[in-house]
Amino acid sequence: QLHAQAPHAVFLPCPTQGHVIPAIEFAETLASQGFIITFVCAEHITARISKSHGSGLSPSIRLIGLPDEEQDIDQDADIFITMVKIIENMVPAFEQTVNGLFKNSKESSVPPPLCIISDFFLSWSQDIAHKFNIPRYVFFPASSSCLAVMLYLPRFIEEGIAPVAADVRDIVVPGLPPLDSYDLPSDWRQSVPQEWREYAFPSLLKIHESSGILVNTFNELEREAIDAVRTEAINPNKLPIYPLGPILPSKFFRSESIDQETLSETEKECLQWLDAQTPSSVLYISFGSLAILSMRQIQELAKALDACQQQAFLWILRLPPSATAATALPEGFLSRTHSRGLIISTWAGQLLILSHPSTGGFLTHCGWNSTLESICSGVPLLPLPQFAEQFNNSRMVTEHWKVGLKLQRGPDDVAESGEIEIGVRKLMQGHEGRAVRSRARELKEEAASAVAEFGSSHAALQAFIQAAAASHTTT
Ligand code: UDP
Repeated sequence: QLHAQAPHAVFLPCPTQGHVIPAIEFAETLASQGFIITFVCAEHITARISKSHGSGLSPSIRLIGLPDEEQDIDQDADIFITMVKIIENMVPAFEQTVNGLFKNSKESSVPPPLCIISDFFLSWSQDIAHKFNIPRYVFFPASSSCLAVMLYLPRFIEEGIAPVAADVRDIVVPGLPPLDSYDLPSDWRQSVPQEWREYAFPSLLKIHESSGILVNTFNELEREAIDAVRTEAINPNKLPIYPLGPILPSKFFRSESIDQETLSETEKECLQWLDAQTPSSVLYISFGSLAILSMRQIQELAKALDACQQQAFLWILRLPPSATAATALPEGFLSRTHSRGLIISTWAGQLLILSHPSTGGFLTHCGWNSTLESICSGVPLLPLPQFAEQFNNSRMVTEHWKVGLKLQRGPDDVAESGEIEIGVRKLMQGHEGRAVRSRARELKEEAASAVAEFGSSHAALQAFIQAAAASHTTT
């Protein structure tokens, strides 16, 4: 039974795994604080959440799936174009849903929504919030440095820096260290289809019209960048910024034992294999939910693993639809590394792997969730960024927070086997590796303190809840 006086928020995440995973966890956090959440997303996503979370989902979270157009999810189409199609398809159905929530509230036990929380890429929800006279808060599941860059877009457009030409240096964003073109999101590059920019840029500019921004970061990690996004130069409308991360399942911080019932067969296999390894000995390799390495990069990586003869590794290998492990990997690789490597090709909960005591390093694309999950598990990183804001995350990891080691790449952007071998040996066995591991463990403690009672992120969460509740009394 839902409480008729409870604050009710409509949550609209961007329909990709990397945005939905923290969104559903944040919805759980709000539910635990007494909110009713109507969680609205493309149907293929809500179906996946029902399957993965099942009855574990809070009863205060109601999932609503917006109809998918089959033809939009075209595996062969450009990923940016596909994304625009899926997102634009959601607009009318989302408006109808919000309308229904207001209409039905008269007869139902669910009160009308008092705000919309929506992903920064779905800024059309700003106009819908306006229509219904409720505030829209932006959900920003990336770093504060990335937020600073995105809020600064009007200046970048004015100065001709965005769309981004290759190799621009010393780009100034007040409050951040000097950037170069690699630090700006890769989808701002001129080479990305214009159709994407025509959607993305207006969407980013509209963040400035929102009522506040919820950022998946924490003060102790990104103090300078958080200060920067609060300055007038970047945030002229003085939007409140709520750094309330890291957003991870609450049971992660409580170090609860794993419920075997909830594990997939693949996850059980990974955990059993990790149980048989020694502490901090395993290199975990994964590039998130979207990136697929080039065949050449896969080969170079495999050659490096071949060369690191004693190194245990767990590799989540995503391949293009046409390839198989047997064709993508060097001949004999699987049999040569069988005793020290586990390769899997299906989804497995990454936090389970990262938080296992045998995991000692992470070769990663440095997606923001992966970066935070690694830091919160005290595991140092070896970044091999692929796109979006991963290059900037990677720079922060290696140069600023010093929780990872830099991997050299050739002129064609491929990291060659020799460089990977050096990087892996340094990370897993060298003194540089020990230093970044110890720094990662310090940051792990700071992350746990930030979300605990009296911590900085806990305070930001309470501030947001108060602001949202205040809109309850004024609307
Ligand atoms: N993930 C996972 N298992 C996989 C691949 C990815 O659990 O096999 C999760 C990972 O833990 C993270 C998210 O998917 O929470 C990926 O987000 P990230 O920001 O790292 O990268 P993206 O997938 O958006 O590029």
